[in-house]
Amino acid sequence: MASLAHDHNFWIVGGAALVCILGSCLTMLLSRRLVGSGGLRKQFQTSLSALIGGMTIWSTHFIAMLAYQPGVAHGFATTLTVVSLGIAVGGNAIAKMMLAYGTGHIRTLGGGAVFGCTIAVMHYVGMTAYELPGYIIWSFSHVLLSVVLGAVLGALAYRSVIEGKSNHASLFATVLMVASICAMHFTGMAAISLNLNPLVFVSPQLMSDGVLATVVACVTTIILFIGFVGFSVELTTEREAVAAVQRSNLHDALTGLPNRLFLNQILEDLDDQRRGSGNPHVAVFTLDLDRFQEVNDIHGNRIGDAVLVEVASRLKEVCAPTHFVARTGGDEFAAVFLGFESNEKASSFAQRMQDAISRNIILADAALSVGVTIGVATTLSDETALDEVLQKADMAKYRAKSDVAQSICFFDADLDRAALDRQHLTHDLRQALPKQEFELNYQVQIGTSSGDIAGFEALLRWNHPIRGRVSPEVFIPLAEETGLIRSIGHWVLHEACLEAANWEKPYSIAVNVAPQQLVQPEFVAELDGCLTQSGLSPHRLEIEVTEATLIDDKARALEVMYQIKKMGVRIAMDDFGKGYSSLATLRAFPFDKIKVDRSFVSNLHLDHQRAAIVRSTLLLGDALKMPILAEGVESEAEYAFLRRERCHYVQGYLFGKPQSREEIHPLVSGVPKVRAS
Ligand code: C2E
Ligand code: MG
Ligand code: MG
Repeated sequence: MASLAHDHNFWIVGGAALVCILGSCLTMLLSRRLVGSGGLRKQFQTSLSALIGGMTIWSTHFIAMLAYQPGVAHGFATTLTVVSLGIAVGGNAIAKMMLAYGTGHIRTLGGGAVFGCTIAVMHYVGMTAYELPGYIIWSFSHVLLSVVLGAVLGALAYRSVIEGKSNHASLFATVLMVASICAMHFTGMAAISLNLNPLVFVSPQLMSDGVLATVVACVTTIILFIGFVGFSVELTTEREAVAAVQRSNLHDALTGLPNRLFLNQILEDLDDQRRGSGNPHVAVFTLDLDRFQEVNDIHGNRIGDAVLVEVASRLKEVCAPTHFVARTGGDEFAAVFLGFESNEKASSFAQRMQDAISRNIILADAALSVGVTIGVATTLSDETALDEVLQKADMAKYRAKSDVAQSICFFDADLDRAALDRQHLTHDLRQALPKQEFELNYQVQIGTSSGDIAGFEALLRWNHPIRGRVSPEVFIPLAEETGLIRSIGHWVLHEACLEAANWEKPYSIAVNVAPQQLVQPEFVAELDGCLTQSGLSPHRLEIEVTEATLIDDKARALEVMYQIKKMGVRIAMDDFGKGYSSLATLRAFPFDKIKVDRSFVSNLHLDHQRAAIVRSTLLLGDALKMPILAEGVESEAEYAFLRRERCHYVQGYLFGKPQSREEIHPLVSGVPKVRAS
C-alpha cells in the first residue's frame, strides 16, 4: 500500500507552485479590474480571467501529478485529462461571471465557492484520468475536507478582491487563491491510498509523463502568453483612457487647442527650466479677437464657432516647434515663444499671427473678417515668473485695445504701471474687509442760521498695511468695478448707524451710497436691518446719492428711493452740478436735500460764474422746498457769502476735517465716552 502524498519530485512540485502563483497573480489582477469596469471590456476581462484561472488550476494539478513518481508503469487517459481542463475553464467561467455580474454574497462568497468546487471537481476528474497497475482507495473524510477547504478559501479570495481597494488586498486575494488550489490539491492527494497490483492492466494508449509534460508545458505557455498579452492590452487601454481624460482636461473642446490650464502648466514647466539650465528667454503673447462679438450677434453662434476653429487652425499653421498656442477664453488666445533672442523676433511672430488671423475667413455662405489685438511681454526686460509675464502681456493688450494707432503692444513698465498698480490694489482690496482695514471718519455739517452742528457725514478710510491711507477717490471706483462695493457699502452703513445710535446728541448721520449698492435687490432690507440692529431712528439717517447712481436704472432707482423715504430715511443729492443733467435728475427724483459740489464753492465770492450757479441753486432749492448744503467750505469769505445768500447748511475744512470716532466724541456727547467695538 502506497500513498500519493509521498514519492514526489520536489523540483517539479516547485514548478507547479510557480505556475500556480503566477497564474493566480494574473487571475486576481484581472478579477480586480473586471469588478470596476463595464461593457465589452468587462466581458473581455471575465473571459480572460476565466481562461487563465482554469488553466492555472489544471496546470498546477497536472504538474504536481508529474512530480509523483510511483516507480511503476502509469499514464493519463487522454479524454478525461481534456475533460478535466474543460471543467476547470468552464467552472471558472461560471465563478467569474458571478463575480462580474452578481450582487451581494452571490457575487463574493458564491463565486468563490464555485471556484473552490471547480478545483475539486477538476481534481477528482483529473485523478480518474490517472492510471497505474493497482487500485485507488479513497478516504472520504479527506475528500470532504479538500472540497470544504477549496470552497472556503476560494470564497475568501473572491471577497478580498471585491472589498479590498488597495494593492495589499490584491496580494492577499492571490495568496488566498494559491492557498485554495494547494489546500484542495494536497488534501485531495492525501485522501488517496494506492493498492498496487501488477495484474491490473494499464492501457498502452495512455498519455505518458513525457506527452503530458509537453501538453502541460504548452498550456502553461499559453496561460503566460495570453495573461501577459491580455494584461498589456488592459494597461494600454487604461493608459489611453487616462491620456484621453487628461487631454480633454487640458484642451479646448471646440478648437482642440491647449486651454488655459495647459498654458499655466507650460508656463510653470518653463519657469523650472529657466531656473535650471541655460535660462532661455520666453515671450508671452495674449490675443483678443476684434469684432468677434459682432460676428456672433449677426451670424449666430454656429458661425462664431466656425470662426474660432479657423482662427485656431491658422494660429497652429504659423507655429514652429518653439511656439505654443492656447485658447484661454471665448475669443482670447495666448501664445508662448521659447528661446527667442530679440524683441524683433517676438514682434515678427506677433505680426505673423495677426496677418494669419486678419485674412478673410470664407465660410459656406459668408466671407468674414476679424482682427486681433495682441499684447506682448518678455523675460528680456525683467526676470519675473512667467505668470506675471502673462499678466503683463494682458496689460499691454488692454493698452493696445484702447489705442487706435497700434494693435500690437509690448509691455511698457511706465505706460502699464498704472494698470499693474490697479491690479495689485484690487487684490488687496478684496482682503481689506476681512482684515478690518476699513475705518469711518466723520465730517461735521453746520446749520448756517444757528452756527450749530446739524449732523455728520460718514467718510470711508482704507488703512492699507503698506501704502498707508488710500483715498476713497481711488478705491471706491475699484470697489464699484469689482462689485466689492456691495459688501463694503453694507459694512459702512452698519458701522455708521451703530456709531450714530451711540451718540448722546441726536445728530443726523449722512452715508454715501454707491450706484450699484442702491439698486441691488437686498439694499432696502439691508438698510432696514442696519436700523433695527443699531436702534437708530430712521429720521436721523440720510443717504447721499450722486447723479450717476440714478442714471443707469432709473425705474429701479426711483422705486428704491420711495421705499427708503417710506421708512423715514432722507435722501440727499450729492455733488450737485458736477454731472451732466443735474437739473433733470433733481426734477425726476424725490430728494430731501441738495449738496452743491465743492468745485462751485471754492472761491465763489471771487468768481462771478460760481457765485451765479450757487445763487440759482439756492433759488431752485427754495422753489422745490429742498434745503441746500454747500460742500468744501474752506474760508471765512466763502462762508460769509453762503450765509448772506441763505444757504441752509455748510460742510468743509473751515468747520472740521473728517475725523475719527474718538476725535468727534467731545462733539457728540456731553460726557466723552468710548463705544465698545
Ligand atoms: P463726497 O461724498 O462728496 O465727500 C466729500 C469729500 O470732500 C470728502 O473727501 C471730504 O474729505 C472732502 N472735503 C470735505 N471738506 C472739504 C474741504 O473743505 N476742502 C476739500 N478740498 N475737500 C473737502 P473724501 O473723504 O476723500 O471722499 C471722497 C469721495 O469718496 C466722497 O465724496 C464720496 O463720493 C466717496 N466716498 C467716501 N466715503 C464713501 C463711502 O462710504 N461710500 C461710498 N459709496 N463713497 C464714499
Ligand atoms: Mg458725500
Ligand atoms: Mg460730495
